[in-house]
Amino acid sequence: MKLYLIKHVQVYAPQPQGCRDVLTGGGRILKIAKELPAEEAYGVEVIDGTGKILMPGLIDAHVHIVGGGGEGGAKTRTPEIMLTDITTGGVTTVVGTLGTDGCTRTMTNLLAKAKGLEEEGITTYVYTGSYQVPVRTLTGNIQDDIILLDRVVGTGEIAISDHRSSQPTKEEFAKIVADTRVGGILSAKAGLVNIHMGDGAEKLDFLRYVLANTQIPSENMLPTHINRSTTLMKDGIDYAKTMGGYIDLTTSSDPDFLEPDEVKASTGLKMALDAGVPVEQITFSSDGQGSLPIFDANGTFLGLGVGKVTSMYRELRDAVLQDGVALEDALMPVTANPARLLKLSAKGKIEEQADADLILADAKTLKLETVMAKGVLMIRQKEILVKGTFE
Ligand code: ZN
Repeated sequence: MKLYLIKHVQVYAPQPQGCRDVLTGGGRILKIAKELPAEEAYGVEVIDGTGKILMPGLIDAHVHIVGGGGEGGAKTRTPEIMLTDITTGGVTTVVGTLGTDGCTRTMTNLLAKAKGLEEEGITTYVYTGSYQVPVRTLTGNIQDDIILLDRVVGTGEIAISDHRSSQPTKEEFAKIVADTRVGGILSAKAGLVNIHMGDGAEKLDFLRYVLANTQIPSENMLPTHINRSTTLMKDGIDYAKTMGGYIDLTTSSDPDFLEPDEVKASTGLKMALDAGVPVEQITFSSDGQGSLPIFDANGTFLGLGVGKVTSMYRELRDAVLQDGVALEDALMPVTANPARLLKLSAKGKIEEQADADLILADAKTLKLETVMAKGVLMIRQKEILVKGTFE
């Protein structure tokens, strides 16, 4: 595998490290120093990092990699994702999930797709299950799926507070979190439950119930779509502050077609930080490749779109350029925080021996230019070098 030396680049690891030279090889970051000699005779390819920022590749912990939707009948099932739908947004790690449909979307299909994306060059994990309770697993139960299937890191997206959920009881929900946690402990994996939050009036009460009535820590639950309404956003902030909970903001809504009460992810991040939520407790995910109903200003249904993984980077950039969040803070929800929750110790950071998942952007405009996944250049200076098998 090729060696790359990125010279004179501003490193955000996500904390700012100043101007550095970064050497990659064998899929890893080999060396970081103020000045590294370019041994071009040994086949080291130099990438000029002058005027650029180097950041960890983004981690998207909620992507419908085999497609989602179907809520308007079979013709509204969204298609499978392609490799460059992911890499063009600077995302180098995804966690695949099923959604509302746990019938025509299956765990076998999800695992095969994850394997395919991994073969195409990015890092891919999955959750077992779908919205449904009891959880439809591959082996028959949650613990076995997590322990025996390498790519399964947790359960999800389990739907609560939603008309499309299985309407589980709080006890049933707690049991899912417990099984997922133990599965994680026995396999040295995250054991994370990704929780789809709907508009229901009970909001985050199920999660509060688990924390108040069991010994399970908040790290095993990641509720998503917290920014779907101002009401839920406020409850999320309260849950994070009073119970140490983690909250995930969905990025894929089109900023031009937000629901009246919906909060843009970058704005939600700013709101949460201003309210005193520690940045470590906030994550972003795209909900990519899920179906996205589009309404006009009068609420008239215009059609169905498909959620984009690239929205993660857009919201990171908007958080800095529009909402005034410091780059190192805006990076945490898309790099270090999901890496910690998912227990991916070589991801979400720039340090020696970490995976060479790296993105380069213009220092002024933050426009994404170059993407490296596991040491391979996927995109160089906006030119796509690696495409998916059928692209
Ligand atoms: Zn969802």
